[in-house]
Amino acid sequence: MSMLEFENVEVFYGKIQALRGMSIRVEEGEIVSLLGNNGAGKTTTLSTASAIVKAHSGRISFAGSDITRAKPWEVVAGGLIHVPEGRRIFSTLTVAENLQLGGYLVKDRGAVAKRMKEVYEMLPLLAERRSQQGGTLSGGEQQMLAIGRALIAGPRMLMLDEPSMGLAPLIVAQVMEVIKDVNANGTTVLLVEQNARAALKITSRGYVIEGGATTMTGTGPELLADSRIVEAYLGA
Ligand code: ATP
Repeated sequence: MSMLEFENVEVFYGKIQALRGMSIRVEEGEIVSLLGNNGAGKTTTLSTASAIVKAHSGRISFAGSDITRAKPWEVVAGGLIHVPEGRRIFSTLTVAENLQLGGYLVKDRGAVAKRMKEVYEMLPLLAERRSQQGGTLSGGEQQMLAIGRALIAGPRMLMLDEPSMGLAPLIVAQVMEVIKDVNANGTTVLLVEQNARAALKITSRGYVIEGGATTMTGTGPELLADSRIVEAYLGA
């Protein structure tokens, strides 16, 4: 089943056109990566799926429903959760409080408690630091917290924007492992990364985005081996 699909989506910021006929498809169970230079339209793609930014034309569907004109909270309630660039941890709240916030739209408090337990099992470093203020965590730990918080909402699909931003290579690898684990536990993933090499290692399929549309697609291994990708994004 197709989990998320963009068909010919156009997005404008005033007179600036950010998406020009964007068409992508994420199948259930996949990790799909969007690669591309600054300004290519990767973040806009995620924000449009989240309904933070409105599509001018085209169609977006999620798990079989048309969400082109949905409201942001309807998208979240449907199970599509966005982890934005920059993590947006509440620095004066504790790790536990940050996680709890991920479940604020979830009516079933039992489900939230169960997911808190699951997140602590999956990310033991968050369990150890549950009473510590979010702002005192390292960059990598804050990224784990942002992912953990998104999991409390019970997503069918996670969209992650630049999770490796500003992290040391060893920590980037750890974050990628966590994303792989989240996916192995049944969550479909759409990943935006400047760090193409790290992303492609865990990617089922990737798209190259240029000028607001896709210009190339392939499996992770295909893209890692493609000379055009190596030259443009992997620093040959
Ligand atoms: P980056 O990695 O730098 O975030 P990106 O591929 O995610 O790049 P977008 O942020 O989606 O690219 O930007 C796509 C285009 O839309 C760019 O030309 C950008 O300048 C423009 N843009 C993005 N956000 C806005 C905004 N709020 N107002 C006006 N123009 C915007």
